[in-house]
Order: sequence, then structure tokens, then C-alpha cells
Amino acid sequence: MQQFNELKLQQPIFKALQSMQFEKPTPIQAQAIPLALEGKDIIACAQTGTGKTAAFCLPIVDRLLAHPQKMALILVPTRELAAQVTEVLKDLTRFTPGIKGALLIGGMSMRPQMDKLKRGVRLVVATPGRLLDHLERRTLDFKALDILVLDEADRMLDMGFAPQLNKILPYLPKGRQTLLFSATLPANIEQLSARYLTDPVRVTVGSVSRPVEKIQQSIVETTAAGKNETLVDELLARKGSVLIFARTKARTDRVAQHLQKYGHSVTRLHGDRTQGQRNSAVAGFRDGRFRILVATDIAARGIDISHIANVINYDLPHVPEDYVHRIGRTARAGAEGQAVSFVTPEDKALWRAISNFLGKTGAPSVAFMNDKGRPAKKIEKNSRSFRKKFSGKPRRPSQRKGFASRPSN
Ligand code: AMP
Repeated sequence: MQQFNELKLQQPIFKALQSMQFEKPTPIQAQAIPLALEGKDIIACAQTGTGKTAAFCLPIVDRLLAHPQKMALILVPTRELAAQVTEVLKDLTRFTPGIKGALLIGGMSMRPQMDKLKRGVRLVVATPGRLLDHLERRTLDFKALDILVLDEADRMLDMGFAPQLNKILPYLPKGRQTLLFSATLPANIEQLSARYLTDPVRVTVGSVSRPVEKIQQSIVETTAAGKNETLVDELLARKGSVLIFARTKARTDRVAQHLQKYGHSVTRLHGDRTQGQRNSAVAGFRDGRFRILVATDIAARGIDISHIANVINYDLPHVPEDYVHRIGRTARAGAEGQAVSFVTPEDKALWRAISNFLGKTGAPSVAFMNDKGRPAKKIEKNSRSFRKKFSGKPRRPSQRKGFASRPSN
């Protein structure tokens, strides 16, 4: 399938696609949508940035339009992802009023959600814990459920949602269609799909662990004590928005405070912040009020902000696959992006594991470490790391144009 009009989608959906300026289906959409429209269960292996959200939202909207009694449920791991899926659904249903939806996520009070459910909804986007609360209180029933989506299923399991998912299953009718989307397919996803899906068709775009090709990756060798200074240098030399990953909530706060001290416009995202704070952090970063967002892995999962120009791994992720998820925040939908990772001497083994993981998949242009802990090859030619290491010129912020000055103490 090369064009959306090759699909038997209903007219208001084409209008919505036009207004969203989606001209051609992405590869995951081209593969998954026809199968979903046929009513097949699907296991789709696709990371964020591939257009996976529309790949499941389009068939859902089409089904709900064709069958006014039916319902759909999309289960997601995080509140941020739930909010983003809801935005895509709003865009897609712009010309199809009458499909009432509800966003059922934790961290918000139950009462308004219950009131909404009482008025009747057909499209539910939910995180597993809160959905289970509603099902157990009988504020929602899914007798009319026709399509279930498990989005970012691997992350739902990583976050410990397996018990809730197991409890939700008996509330769902057996005859439904189920679409499972996951960036990776470890054994526990296969077990989950065996319970939830019937005779699924598999769809994969690219290699599971291969980052989007347009991402220019590099490393900067530094020390634990030198990271803050390295970070300030990197920020001064880079253009555009920056998403910084730190390992813990406390480190996220500390990095953000440090950058604020240097006059950077920065906001933070982690699980200890209130829902209101998290929403305004994402909104502020999205609309450009903040150039920099510092986040933990879980909080940043699934953030879809098309303009993220740079991802900085202030701390390396512990799991190589998370490296792929992180750098996938940039270079979205075909844009160019840069990812730089800070590697300390203590990180050598971790970086080697990430390099091996990427190397096995033939991932492009990542710096590999040799036994002395130095980048042995493949530093991206035009990357800052390359310039830093091989140009021989010192990178003093004061020698650069437009640098923010450092505080005197
Ligand atoms: P996702 O992988 O669902 O997070 O989508 C990544 C980005 O791709 C989002 O910003 C979407 O708006 C965009 N996108 C999805 N499908 C298309 C399409 N067919 N054409 C252009 N952009 C798209």
C-alpha cells in the first residue's frame, strides 16, 4: 500500500488525514492497517516514531464509525502516552462528531472520570491500574468492546503492570480483536500475546533494536564529576531543543537545577511530580517555552514531540534496549536528529553492552569503545564528539557565539 486512498477508510477519516498533513502511510501503517481492517489480531513490532499510533487509531475510528454500538479500548503504560494517543484520536475524529471518548489515567481524581463514563463512552484510552479500578467498581463495562490495543506492551510489562493486565482480561469479551504494539518482543511479550491474542499476524518495521537511521550518534568521554560541565558545553554548542536523560528522579532534579543556574530554560519530568506539573512540563517543552527537558526513562516514555533535535544521555541507560527507546525521541518521522551519550570510565562495560547490542543489528554510526576505553572507530564524522576529539581546538564557551555566560560562583 503506497497511499491512504488505497485503503477502504471512511470519508471523514481521509479529511482528517489531510488536515493532519499525513500524505502517505508510514511502513508500519502500510502493513498493519489493512490487516487490522480485515479484523485480524496483530503483533506489531514498532518503536515510537514510526507512526504506530495512527496505525492502530485509524482502524479503530473506522470501526467505530461503521458500528455505532461498538467500543474500543487502548491500554498504554504512561499518562503522557495516554494523553498523546488521545490527541491523535481527537485529530482523527475531527470530522466525525459523536464518538465519545474517555481518558482514564491515574493521578487524576476518579469522580470526573466516573461522571463521563455514566454519560456513555465508546473510546477509552487508559493506563492499566486506573482502568482496573473502574472495572472493579463497575463504573465501566466492556460488553460492547470490539477492539483492544495494547500499546508499548513491553514497557507495560517493564513497569510491572502484568498483574493488572491479567485481572483486566476477564472483563473483556472473547470475540474482540486485539492489536499488540511493542518496540521489542521478549519472551514475556510472547506469553502476554498468547493470553490476549488469537492467531495473530506479525508485523515488523525495520530491526527491533535498530534506531532510526537518521539519528547521528556520538559519545563524549567524561567523568562522573565532570558531567555537569560537559553538559553545559554540549548545550552551548548544540542547536534546537534538547531532551536529557538522567538515571533517577533526584538526579533529574539536580541536573535541571544546575542548568537553571546557568540561565538555561529547562523543565523536568519524573514520576514524583504531580500530574499537573508533568502536563505543563511536556506542554512547555512542546510549545518551545522550555528548550530543555530533563527526564527519567519511564516518565519520558513515548513522548512524541516532533521538534526534539538532540537527545543527551547524561546517564547511560542500564538496559541497552532503553538506549534505542531514548534516542528514538529524536529524528522522528524522518527528521534529522542527534544523540550524544556521556561515558565515564565506570560506564565502560555498560557502553560496551550497548555497542554490542547495536552492533548485532548493524545499527549505524555509533562510537565503539576499544579495550582502553577509547572510541576505536565509527565516531560520526561530523559529530561534535568528532570535532572535539579530532579538531585539536579547545572548545571554550567564551570563544563561541551567543553563549550564555556562566555564573561567577
Ligand atoms: P508515533 O510513532 O505514533 O509516535 O508517530 C510519530 C510521529 O509521526 C508523530 O508526530 C506523527 O504525527 C507522525 N506521523 C504518523 N504517521 C504519519 C504519516 N503517515 N505521515 C506523516 N507523519 C506521520
